[in-house]
Amino acid sequence: MRLAVLVIDMLRDFVDGPLSSPRFRRVVPCIARLLEAARSRGIPVIYVNDSHLPKVDRELELWGPHAIRGSEGARVVEELEPREGDFIVLKRRYSGFYGTDLDTLLRELGVDTLMLTGISTDVCVLHTAADAFFRGYQLIIVEDCVEAFTEEGHRWALEYMKRVYGAKLARLEEAIREIERASR
Ligand code: ZN
Repeated sequence: MRLAVLVIDMLRDFVDGPLSSPRFRRVVPCIARLLEAARSRGIPVIYVNDSHLPKVDRELELWGPHAIRGSEGARVVEELEPREGDFIVLKRRYSGFYGTDLDTLLRELGVDTLMLTGISTDVCVLHTAADAFFRGYQLIIVEDCVEAFTEEGHRWALEYMKRVYGAKLARLEEAIREIERASR
């Protein structure tokens, strides 16, 4: 297994800004612990960040302005700021693969398994998981490192990814053990 950890949309606009939910902030410490484990074991960390073009991206009509390219709100939250050696992929759609070089990067890194974290479980995590599945990647979703606006949406999306994309669901401790296994 060649593993990479994806951090999806842990941006200021989602955690503290116009599209925030109190549910989103609670995944921050979990993701921080996971990233620490990944970095210390040499597992690549890839941020997949919304970076919208104003007046162009249709998503903005549906959700209102958020994560506008170059704005403060489009920055990763302070606690999870990217470190040297991490990768950053900018996206304009829900999926981290659509119109980005994520797939090229993963192939260059020799990655075959993605560990997904971030928000929200039933939108950007779900669509990224779908595109990963179509491209042949194995999926591990870290249950306590993903969140949605509602518990119902969160649970539904986890079950959907498990059933339809064969994703493995793992709690944080189990995910850290996977990272340790993958780094051997
Ligand atoms: Zn967006």
